[in-house]
Amino acid sequence: MKVMKPREASKELNVLRALNQRQAYSFEQKQNLLNMEKGFIGERQFDEMGEKYLEQECVMLQDLSLTIKGNTVQIDSVFLTSEVVYIFEVKNYEGDFIMKDGDIYTVAGQEISNPLTQLNRTSSLLRQLLQSWQVKMSIEGYVVLINPACMLYHATPADPFIFYGQIQSRLTEINRRQRNEPWGIKKMKRLAEKLIEEHNKEGRIQIKRPAYTYEELRKGIACTRCSSFSVQVNQRSCKCLVCEHSSSLNSAVIRQIEEFILLYPAELLTTEKIYRWCGQIIPKKRIRGILSENYTRVGNKSGTTFKKESK
Ligand SMILES: [Zn+2]
Repeated sequence: MKVMKPREASKELNVLRALNQRQAYSFEQKQNLLNMEKGFIGERQFDEMGEKYLEQECVMLQDLSLTIKGNTVQIDSVFLTSEVVYIFEVKNYEGDFIMKDGDIYTVAGQEISNPLTQLNRTSSLLRQLLQSWQVKMSIEGYVVLINPACMLYHATPADPFIFYGQIQSRLTEINRRQRNEPWGIKKMKRLAEKLIEEHNKEGRIQIKRPAYTYEELRKGIACTRCSSFSVQVNQRSCKCLVCEHSSSLNSAVIRQIEEFILLYPAELLTTEKIYRWCGQIIPKKRIRGILSENYTRVGNKSGTTFKKESK
């Protein structure tokens, strides 16, 4: 098994993580971030199980975003074999749920959004995409309930759920069904490359962002280990006064610049902006040096504006 597209934390999750450090988060905002972190942990767990149990020559694409006929779809995990495209919606739900007339409720009777609806929509759109590419492969979709402490009452064996205790045997079954014929493998790899290409086009699409302004966000350098802003800056390094974690000054400044770019993708970088962003504790000359060494100069007049080279 080959991972042709590894998982990364989504841009949306990274924005929320950065804002959590620099903004006073409300209870709801913290809860939202925790839910996203929990979802991400569940997806990583499923990746690891796939990497462990799929031995045959097949391909794993971890997290794909595609726009198909104007509709955006996000797929948590895709396994490609020579005959079948398996798509997985991974849910890290915890607790007891009840299925009733095709809808899902908590035991307290509150309806939750049904992952099967999302799965059916994704399968249908992906099928249309493969048709338009004239690729003849069948698509099988499943909802993986990755948390061992999740119970879904009244689900039937015909429903496409995979519970925690079934993951190993289902993956072993996919493994057993894979035929390692050269032409099939070639077809599978070509399809994987096309899907990754489509995914990469998505990078330019704007993500949903909560509202925030430059002024309200906390300025300074946060410790990567404990998130404290009590960081002491020395000649070449900086050291956290709370947990004593230290890193090179250059890498700390680059981290702040990257965070600034994540939060303000449309802004050009100037020494003054980054100086303020870092809490006015690093000499401007130093910041200018780091910018000109690692980023691209824009315009040739003033020479003080930079941008990140797009990949
Ligand atoms: Zn620290």
